Amino acid sequence: MVQRQQLNEGRHPTRLGDILVKRNVLSPKVIQEILEEQKIGRGDKRVLSIDLRGNDEVAVLEISGRLDESKQERVARVFERLMNRGFCKVLVDCRQLVYLDSHGVSAFVSYIDEARARGGDVKFFGLNPDAQFTLDRLGLIAYLQTFVTEEEAVHAFGLPIDEYMSRGSLGEYVSIDVQKTFHLSYCPTLESIHDEDKVYFESKRHARDAGKAACRKCRP
Ligand SMILES: [Zn+2]
Repeated sequence: MVQRQQLNEGRHPTRLGDILVKRNVLSPKVIQEILEEQKIGRGDKRVLSIDLRGNDEVAVLEISGRLDESKQERVARVFERLMNRGFCKVLVDCRQLVYLDSHGVSAFVSYIDEARARGGDVKFFGLNPDAQFTLDRLGLIAYLQTFVTEEEAVHAFGLPIDEYMSRGSLGEYVSIDVQKTFHLSYCPTLESIHDEDKVYFESKRHARDAGKAACRKCRP
């Protein structure tokens, strides 16, 4: 990470905007516009603030305060702009996010498919238990990638999306307790296995974390 390196060296970190302007990804005017949009809402105690940082590949949006109906549009606009300007890897820093509801969620959810279609993603880290619960209640936990730390999340951008996501529905990756391999649920080797003996995994990553290796037949 360019910025982190510079911080470690005690220099002022290059702003994401500067990097993008230098690489001709964005014009200075567009950066200014994005930053202007973020200013809205400042001065309020429970403010939502959006900070753009990150390196040249992953844009990090820091959201603090409450993300609810009143802030939803503002956040959606920033996402819109990022997408329009060619960002497809967006990391949302939720460490300072104190409240999230379904309106708030709708600010970013529509951009996730778009980001993924372009080979990127919108990922999250540092969610508090309440926000996590909101995502869970909306059935989004299996769909979104959330992480504890920024490092984990940034690392995940380098991996194929299905390392983390089940293809389609939950539980498509299946294993059996005694087996060292995991399968796609339609693998022929699972035919003779009773349902109650099957163990389902949310994603390939979960299966690997549980010590299972991919089946060579069905190649999950
Ligand atoms: Zn298999």
